[in-house]
Amino acid sequence: MRAWVVDHTAPVDEHPLRRVDRAEPEPGAGQVRVRISCCGVCRTDLHLAEGDLPPKQPGLTPGHEIVGRIDTLGAGASRFAVGERVGVPWLGGTDGSCRYCRRGAENLCLAPVFTGWDVHGGYADACVADEAYVYRLPEKLDDEHAAPLLCAGIIGYRALQRAAVPPGGRLGIYGFGGSAHITAQIALHQGMRVHVLTRGEGNRALAAELGADSVGDAADTPPEPLDGAILFAPAGELVPVAMRALDRGGTLAIAGIWLSDIPSLRYASELFEERQVRSVTANTRRDGEEFLALAARFGITPTTVAYPMERADDALADLAHGRFSGAAVVHN
Ligand SMILES: [Zn+2]
Ligand SMILES: [Zn+2]
Repeated sequence: MRAWVVDHTAPVDEHPLRRVDRAEPEPGAGQVRVRISCCGVCRTDLHLAEGDLPPKQPGLTPGHEIVGRIDTLGAGASRFAVGERVGVPWLGGTDGSCRYCRRGAENLCLAPVFTGWDVHGGYADACVADEAYVYRLPEKLDDEHAAPLLCAGIIGYRALQRAAVPPGGRLGIYGFGGSAHITAQIALHQGMRVHVLTRGEGNRALAAELGADSVGDAADTPPEPLDGAILFAPAGELVPVAMRALDRGGTLAIAGIWLSDIPSLRYASELFEERQVRSVTANTRRDGEEFLALAARFGITPTTVAYPMERADDALADLAHGRFSGAAVVHN
């Protein structure tokens, strides 16, 4: 089969990805093999290609927003039937036994398996996955529009919980890419007032189109103090900016897996009065199930840009340079 691999880590314009021929993977015990229809392109894939996050094995295939149909069941796999449409997400496995798993915080597992980081992902014709970590997908969404839900959607949903905005409260969203534009739709459906602060004309136009209450540049002050904010842009310099925009008792959640260094904070104006800053680390399967149910109920539809699989490297480059708004999806 054909698969993209991280050949060497380098800036995306130096073509760190290479397309290779590789034997089809065989599903092990409890695994399913998925014939991939399409795969969403996440900023994490870019961090892997560029080396911000080191790939966990040489020749790794990125991609963790995988939509396809099961074509082979491994020994003992019984949760799905051959032919069923499924989604393979970022969280590909946990040990189930560490102190975090035992207390229901499997997102913090000491021995996690991440799709497209620890094991081969979805920029390929097929992949294998542990059936216990695979999702059924909302029937109303086609493959292309379901793919971005699997990381951008789920992680954004967890970030929204971590931002702890009360019902009807005021949410700030810093950066407006694949994850943010899905999260904004959830927040608006839940009755929050949503203020989007982002660079890029296209991103601001998309935010306005989706019904944001206000739209400004990344460093602007929102029109009202925020109960909670989510930083989606991988830009540490926006942390003090977002902290200053919080109301007393407000919370900033940092959604990304990678962030540039955070400048020093001024205690009086950026942290005192019980402002909080929190990170977001992966997700639990429960987050995923809750989010997918909400996405189906609210009719959440990501804005997508389609690329053929042979142009996956161009999709990553276009993401790096902000050449599209919404989420890119590569298709077989
Ligand atoms: Zn664990
Ligand atoms: Zn991701």
